[in-house]
Amino acid sequence: MALQNIGASNRDDAFYRYKMPKMVTKIEGRGNGIKTNVVNMVEIAKALARPASYTTKYFGCELGAQSKFDEKTGTSLVNGAHDTAKLAALLENFIKKYVQCYGCGNPETEIVITKTQMITLKCAACGFLSDVDMRDKLTTFILKNPPEQKKSSKDKKAMRRAEKERLKEGEAADEEQKKLKKEAVKKKGSSASAKDAASKALTKKRSNSSDEDHSPAHSHADENEPPADDDDEDVQWQTDTSLEAARQRIQEQLSAVTADMVMLSTNEEKQKSAKKSPGREEKTQVNGHSNGHTSAHGNLVEEIREHLNKGSSPSQLKSFLGSLSGTYQEIMDALFEALFMGFDKGFAKEVAKKKNYLAAATQEEGSQMVLLRAIESFSAKASTKAVKELGLVLKELYDHDVLEESSILEWYQKGLGGGNKTSQIWKNLKPFIEWLQNAESESEEE
Ligand SMILES: [Zn+2]
Repeated sequence: MALQNIGASNRDDAFYRYKMPKMVTKIEGRGNGIKTNVVNMVEIAKALARPASYTTKYFGCELGAQSKFDEKTGTSLVNGAHDTAKLAALLENFIKKYVQCYGCGNPETEIVITKTQMITLKCAACGFLSDVDMRDKLTTFILKNPPEQKKSSKDKKAMRRAEKERLKEGEAADEEQKKLKKEAVKKKGSSASAKDAASKALTKKRSNSSDEDHSPAHSHADENEPPADDDDEDVQWQTDTSLEAARQRIQEQLSAVTADMVMLSTNEEKQKSAKKSPGREEKTQVNGHSNGHTSAHGNLVEEIREHLNKGSSPSQLKSFLGSLSGTYQEIMDALFEALFMGFDKGFAKEVAKKKNYLAAATQEEGSQMVLLRAIESFSAKASTKAVKELGLVLKELYDHDVLEESSILEWYQKGLGGGNKTSQIWKNLKPFIEWLQNAESESEEE
């Protein structure tokens, strides 16, 4: 099925790992009984870890229309005919108000109702408690229909499982993007062939998604023509057909590079858009050339950076690191700095992009501790904004099995008891560590 990033502000981030299905709706009935059916509301709500009754009710509240979510059949209906673009925009508002952490933007939050009947969102990544505006109409509905409490460890485990599933889906989508990018780049040349490549890529995407999913609701997502097997004349499939929406669909389905090529050939005025990511390297600063004490470290950083700039693969990097002189710890410190120094806000996203390098560099016994100590020394030099994202960084590496609970906890305990116990990093990591310990003790219960 077609996936998109959760949260409008993340729409252009090809590496964003939180995905949800693109909305599919159809109009049913006619006259006074006309209704809009959000066909894949259950799947979307699942990706957002919110009850589908909340999102359905939210549409009703915002549109001033009757709405109904049927728990038994999973049907989500809103009275009246509403187009997909409008509902998708409302869903974005829902995500901003009821899903994304107000502190760090992460969509992995839990609705917690306080003793005073206020609704808050608790962030799993940074621990921030976001206060939902209680003037919003949906809050009444949520208070009357509170989310199921995570009282038993089973519930929490289900959430962890759902999270792993989302990760897998996200990774599959990223893989798909990478494949498309490669294919399209191969065929790059005249703008005609770029278009050709793009349309081929689209065809491929379409056939792939129908392979994965045979339900009519999904196989017809993103298509403008009505489904062939649709003989009910009251049913009218909808997707958002505005120019902006079309542009966005293409952007989402192709890499930024390919999408730019397509856009340039179809829409001249949009030229400057979407050129992003590369060029960040300029911001990185070489550290320690000036003084003799750190020059060995500085040289290592420089050597690694040069190697990375050649477009080395993770396995090439691994053998390159093996050829360097220095202790494992010195090399790891230098690697982490070469990869990430200079980033402040966005540090965690950068780690998500480059985690395969870290995974390749930490295959030996005991290497997780070495990496964690490298992160610690890095944090001592990094900007405050970067250090604020440490919890997200560790969670990213934990989710992808680069780091395990036991290593993280051991390192954290040592750090707390060690010389720099007042350091900001332990304070910043506390919410993540608490979350990790909960997850940990629950898996031990069974
Ligand atoms: Zn947060």
